[in-house]
Amino acid sequence: MTSSDRRLIDRRTLDWVTLDVGETIIDETRAWRTWAELLAVPFLTLAAALGAVIERDDVHQSAFDLVDRADWRSRIAEFEVRYGAFRRDDLYPDALRAMAGLKAAGFRVAVAGNQPASRTAELRRLGIDAELVVMSDELRLAKPDLAFYRRLLELLGDPAPERVAYVGDRVDNDVLPARVAGLRAVWVRRGPWGVIQSLPDRSAADLVVGSLDELARRLAGPAHE
Ligand SMILES: [Mg+2]
Repeated sequence: MTSSDRRLIDRRTLDWVTLDVGETIIDETRAWRTWAELLAVPFLTLAAALGAVIERDDVHQSAFDLVDRADWRSRIAEFEVRYGAFRRDDLYPDALRAMAGLKAAGFRVAVAGNQPASRTAELRRLGIDAELVVMSDELRLAKPDLAFYRRLLELLGDPAPERVAYVGDRVDNDVLPARVAGLRAVWVRRGPWGVIQSLPDRSAADLVVGSLDELARRLAGPAHE
């Protein structure tokens, strides 16, 4: 992982900041730990398998095949009971702080990710105070489908796409399709995808940050920073 670059987005050119959920505001470690326990696989082994499938551009579900647990789908209901709702300590520590900083600086903030519909209410309960919180299952559209981003813009009230930043941890699901849809793309380099993936070229993202604290600093900080 290389350190983030030093580019800035001129905040006068941006109105909305929309955040992804998994590994952007929510740390998914507990989900993977729950799966490891349920399937009786050492957590480190499952985590390494996830890294391997990310490196080969495969879907994360293939990590279960790699550890010889191809029958994981029959355990989904059991997983959901064990994992339950998002908890306060699933939030990355900077999530609420960064969103508050962005709002204080005058940005409008939204949250939209590939998640079950129930996550919207769970995030609200955890204090996620955004003008829009919406999940892929509610939209019946999921990233990287460009229709997800088009519907997101509609829900934001049809702002010019370039006045909306989409912030996510994945190059394939977040950065590249958001850019194609005309939004500004911010890559947050944390979590398995954020560490392992790479940009096709430096200009593929409008901004690269290591955390949401850094995002808030770069977007909401003094213009000369
Ligand atoms: Mg994500």
